[in-house]
Amino acid sequence: MKIKYLCLLSLTCISGQSLAATFIHAGQLISAANSKVLKNMTVVVDGNKIVDVQSGYLQPGDGDQLIDMRDGTLMPGLMDMHTHLSSQQGPGAYMERFTLNEADYALKGVSFAQKTLQAGFTTVRNLGDGFNETVALRNAINNGSIQGPRIYTSAKSIATTGGHADPTNGRRKQLMGDPGPLDGVVNGEADARKAVRQRYKDGADLIKITATGGVLSVAKSSQNPQFMQDELNAIVATAKDYGMKVAVHAHGKEGMKRAILAGVDSIEHGTYMDAEIMKLMKKHGTYYVPTVMAGEWVAEKSKIDGFFPALVRPKAAAIGPLIQNTFAKAYKAGVNIAFGTDSGVSAHGDNGREFALMVEAGMPAIEAIRSATFHGAELLGISDQLGTVEKGKLADLVAVKGDPLQDISLLSKINFVMKDGEIVKHE
Ligand SMILES: [Zn+2]
Repeated sequence: MKIKYLCLLSLTCISGQSLAATFIHAGQLISAANSKVLKNMTVVVDGNKIVDVQSGYLQPGDGDQLIDMRDGTLMPGLMDMHTHLSSQQGPGAYMERFTLNEADYALKGVSFAQKTLQAGFTTVRNLGDGFNETVALRNAINNGSIQGPRIYTSAKSIATTGGHADPTNGRRKQLMGDPGPLDGVVNGEADARKAVRQRYKDGADLIKITATGGVLSVAKSSQNPQFMQDELNAIVATAKDYGMKVAVHAHGKEGMKRAILAGVDSIEHGTYMDAEIMKLMKKHGTYYVPTVMAGEWVAEKSKIDGFFPALVRPKAAAIGPLIQNTFAKAYKAGVNIAFGTDSGVSAHGDNGREFALMVEAGMPAIEAIRSATFHGAELLGISDQLGTVEKGKLADLVAVKGDPLQDISLLSKINFVMKDGEIVKHE
């Protein structure tokens, strides 16, 4: 198969060669369009598109490339709806905000983006950074300067004064200052509108807000509501005007409820959601992004003396163990679930472990995979281009050796990664 129309522009064609298609023979194909598994399939990629999906093993033509995955399972590129690509927690993390410059975070992002892509995650949402460095990271990946996943970034999260994403929490007075909408800190409707418009001006793709307290901020409560209803309404209305979705960090019930009523698109973590909240989410079509891994990570680290500041440790110990059970209930209740890890809390590149935690909590493996493909694309609003293996979609594909429906841990050992038609990993 040749792409003749591209030859008009292609240097390789001028020199007498022609661009070839890639035929992938897959023992199993999880297209993710539904919950079915197809056996002995061929997927044909031409340029950056999937041009054919056929039953049986089609033979490639002259000059075409054959990738033999007859002992493996082919799936859409994985999507993580909650990452922080420019940082990673560790024992020294609380000092870094005083010692690192913006460029340090940007360079960390280059390395973490590479790890994320190699783990099979070809698309991510980045929900919070410090200096808009993930806008630069997204642009560098999109223009081909560096390798990494497709990034949809919120840039700096929006909080209220002293709220979870207030960047000067826990500092002594002289270093605290009075951050405002420019730094993502708002009080009142006018500030809320300004902060959203500032993110748009900064090049963000979506808005992230911290609607309740959180675990890792140096502040007392992990679950108090932190925005008034009028502020939330102003954020959502402004974001809608600017074509941006709104993702919401929330642990406590009241903050979740206000955010859902305001019309946000996703609730992240969702620790203390109950039956009433689940019902409300179903009614409003709000997605839940569980981040079970982050819960596991903070619970584990809370056992180590001195790992967290004194204000953080009890919050980590209380919240961490609860998220997996909340996820189990939300899945049973029929809430829309999109896969997310909060990587940057746990280590980048370990994202695939979330699948095992979801399956452990009672979600069938096929549905866990669909939460990281079909549903991720739906939450992002890009289902017309990505999220399934279907003719006409962009060629983001991953494969594992063996059957991940029998052994979910295989999703932590991705053997093959193609992004936008380009093979970036092939073991
Ligand atoms: Zn997060």
